[in-house]
Amino acid sequence: MKLKSIKNICSVPLVFPGFFHLLESFIGRKFGGFICCWHNLSAERFQNHVEALHPAEPIPLEELVNRFRSGKSTKGCYALTFDDGIGSTVRDISKKCINKGWPVTFYVPTGYLDGEVLPYQKIEFINKYLPVDEYDIPDFSKNFVNKIANKKEIIKTLTDLLYFENFTVVKKTLDYFINLLGKEKKTLFNKEFPRPISWNEIEDLSKNTAISFQSHSVTHSALSGLSEKEIEYEMIKSKEMIESHTNRKVHSFCYPYGEKKSIGEIAPRIAAKHFSSAVTLLRGRLEKNNPFYLPRIGLYSEDTSSFVRLKAVLG
Ligand SMILES: [Zn+2]
Repeated sequence: MKLKSIKNICSVPLVFPGFFHLLESFIGRKFGGFICCWHNLSAERFQNHVEALHPAEPIPLEELVNRFRSGKSTKGCYALTFDDGIGSTVRDISKKCINKGWPVTFYVPTGYLDGEVLPYQKIEFINKYLPVDEYDIPDFSKNFVNKIANKKEIIKTLTDLLYFENFTVVKKTLDYFINLLGKEKKTLFNKEFPRPISWNEIEDLSKNTAISFQSHSVTHSALSGLSEKEIEYEMIKSKEMIESHTNRKVHSFCYPYGEKKSIGEIAPRIAAKHFSSAVTLLRGRLEKNNPFYLPRIGLYSEDTSSFVRLKAVLG
């Protein structure tokens, strides 16, 4: 039986909200609250997800972290977070949250807001336009094993690189393949990607205390591939930029890609110098985790209400 079918069967009892209340209350007492994470979904779907988690209550991320760090109970509480700062998502979700009185945090990579295309968006572009063929591989990264590779191998290796390779190497490699696409396709490059939220809109939205913008680095790079100095730059520069536009404190950092191999050993120690918390994409509840290695529960557009509840109770 496929894993998806097993999960669907497991989530059947959670079709009934009453059963979720009971479980959530028990689990919350033992394992505390949690942080939800989305990237991109409609405001309507998002509302379904938040309502599915009732009576668990969304509270500001900062308050949740403060309660957790001071040893107070976080039972029945959770925080709403969105990564990457896609313009349409931030606009629609902010509107919904203001309307509903739900506090929300947007983790934004400041380089993207300043006009850079995100590395994974570059790969999507290469995948869309690179003709199926074999290509010479540049000598930028030792992680390309062969000198010649076909399109499928290239896309796979480029995607793998994102999770651990140094930013300069990733950028050089991605730009090399984008240059192969020719002038005509390259002109589409800046038009095809979802635009980020603008700094002007961030300034406006920040006047509402329910909306918070926090740091998701500058370049959206795997910190495990960077030096200590480069990690400091990613954290401090993004924090200062966001604070200067919002006039509010940036207290939390979100690790790009959020996996163990992308975060590395040094980053949590540096995050502890500049922030009150840092979040990953590792699944779980707050429990007794390191505040600079907090798990989150990733939710996606296709998740049904009962599956959202199942994810919350499993952590
Ligand atoms: Zn991200």
